[in-house]
Amino acid sequence: MAIDLVTRREWGARQPRGAYGRLSSTRGVKVHYTGGQVSPDIVGDHARCVALVRSIQNHHMDGNGWIDVGYSLLVCPHRKVFEGRGPNHLPAANGSGLNSGHYAVLGLVGSTGFTQPTDDVLHGILDAVEYLRDKGGAGDEIKGHRDGYSTDCPGGPLYAWVKRGAPRPGGGPTDPPEPHPSFPGRVLKYPPVMVGEDVRTWQRQMRRRGWDIDVDGLYGEASRDACRAFQREKGLSATGAVNRATWQATWEEPVT
Ligand SMILES: [Zn+2]
Ligand SMILES: [Zn+2]
Repeated sequence: MAIDLVTRREWGARQPRGAYGRLSSTRGVKVHYTGGQVSPDIVGDHARCVALVRSIQNHHMDGNGWIDVGYSLLVCPHRKVFEGRGPNHLPAANGSGLNSGHYAVLGLVGSTGFTQPTDDVLHGILDAVEYLRDKGGAGDEIKGHRDGYSTDCPGGPLYAWVKRGAPRPGGGPTDPPEPHPSFPGRVLKYPPVMVGEDVRTWQRQMRRRGWDIDVDGLYGEASRDACRAFQREKGLSATGAVNRATWQATWEEPVT
């Protein structure tokens, strides 16, 4: 899938206040998060992503006194990639002395609220990385902001993914089976949309069982409907909510 770029004009970016430093290549890319509260509502409303990107630019220009938003590219949960400073321009977000080594890519996840990067966030970050390799001579490295700099950024979940080698999210039925994970301790249900690794784990197993659902970590209408149909098939109470019994059945019941 080609990168889904949101141009500066499209997101209503302010003009940079000065000329960017030039970069012809970097060792790679550093991944960032917002470090603040991101409302889970952005998952269902792209207009909120646009507003958040604009507020980040305002903060960087008016609060930090930078000439522009500090990131090279910014990625939202809709797998859209917002143009920041772009390829071949020095970013500002990696920390003093660290900007010429790596481009800076932000995933729109927070330290509270929306904290678990969905598959579309991860795909979007990799779309951004490939774009920077293609257009801006970015090298192979994918690192976190905290690598070589004292910060929590990019947060636990994103950093864990970076440390695993930043793989493209899979979830195909051909993936090797994973051992039966224990019940996460919360019932997965909709509405409202629930977000999390536990959702993704359940969806992946449903995919393996042959159900046609997205493995995106979002428990919404499609997951609920698949759950309900599965519960009917297995003679469970058809609530559309993954409680402990349904979770167990998803691994233990034979596929019919
Ligand atoms: Zn950062
Ligand atoms: Zn969005």
